[in-house]
Amino acid sequence: MKENTRLVLAGRHPEQFAGVVNTPVFRGSTILSRTMAEWEDRKKRRSRDEHGATTYGRFGTPTHHALQEALAELEGGHRSLLFPSGLAAGITALTALLKAGDHVLMTDSAYSPTRTFLLRVLGRFGVETTIYDPTIGAGIEALMQPNTRVVYVESPGSETFEIQDVPAIAAVAHKHGARVVMDNTWGTPLFFKPFAHGVDVSIQAATKYIVGHSDAMLGVVTCNEEVWPQIKATSQDLGQTAGPDDVYLALRGLRTMAVRLKQHQAAGLQVAQWLQQRPEVESVLHPALPSHPGHTLWKRDFTGACGLFAVILKPCSRAALEAMVDELALFGIGVSWGGYESLVIPFTPERTASPWAGAPALRLHIGLEDPEDLIADLERGFAALSQTQAKESAA
Ligand SMILES: *Cc1c(COP(=O)(O)O)cnc(C)c1O
Repeated sequence: MKENTRLVLAGRHPEQFAGVVNTPVFRGSTILSRTMAEWEDRKKRRSRDEHGATTYGRFGTPTHHALQEALAELEGGHRSLLFPSGLAAGITALTALLKAGDHVLMTDSAYSPTRTFLLRVLGRFGVETTIYDPTIGAGIEALMQPNTRVVYVESPGSETFEIQDVPAIAAVAHKHGARVVMDNTWGTPLFFKPFAHGVDVSIQAATKYIVGHSDAMLGVVTCNEEVWPQIKATSQDLGQTAGPDDVYLALRGLRTMAVRLKQHQAAGLQVAQWLQQRPEVESVLHPALPSHPGHTLWKRDFTGACGLFAVILKPCSRAALEAMVDELALFGIGVSWGGYESLVIPFTPERTASPWAGAPALRLHIGLEDPEDLIADLERGFAALSQTQAKESAA
């Protein structure tokens, strides 16, 4: 079956829910058994990970199981688990795979709260972290230590959009007995297939395109069969769970994700190409543009691009940048992304292993508005920037 068909069918069992198309919202803590035998049977079935088996709301209800089943299938992994946020998903996976005395290799381009968790929290528990250049590829071998247990990748990188050679990094990691954890939020379960590229654990901030409407927080860990017992146990040990209403919103968002992404991709590329021609622009960091340094790798490994990219402007004053951003009427100033609306945020990435010279920089999320309106909005923004610069040079 083709991907769009799987997206419609995955995780759905209408026959179990009176024929209702969507798995309903099950709000539940206690799950009742009629007899002691049924209680014992439930526990056994849950420990064997039988589909739908549960003993308590914290371990998920049929609403949770529907989304888990769908995402494991779409990402191509063994099982998925849900978390209250994308960050909670990522840090639980890391906690599951690391212990005191272990070493982890972390890409310099990672979503910065995940990096902070490694340095500030797992660091206190004796886990050593080395930050590496995201474009290192097979060169990561030089950084492997006998105690390296995890190589963390994120491609493209948060804010800076470097494409990593995930298969090359995974081959080195596995040769040295380390696991590969990937933040696959940008690729979504549709545009990058982590398990086909050597990844052991994939993280999705479902908050972004899966929910898709900026109205819920949710995270997903999908893993291969080998690490599943560790991931499952740690998630339970840490009491991780997600609210069924948010899970329902993610299930609902998932069904239209392919058509939304198609539009985000086309509009994003149109705006990126337009920005590339602007005299105010130094460069556009969009992996689907042939000018992007990671374009060849992106073409090899990805089947599409979402609506998130960055633009580096030619040097300008803070006042000029502010005039531009404040002029934008269709781009909200705010973090997160993957909803139907366009967003802009100025950024300065946190770097330690690879230098970053791009400033001033803006991250753009291209929503589902008409790209011509977005371009007109950006054009007004650039006019405000130029006016401020003209005043500055006259003064
Ligand atoms: C937003 C984001 C996260 C964290 O997701 P939350 O749901 O906000 O916790 C993780 N990784 C990436 C790449 C993100 O953009």
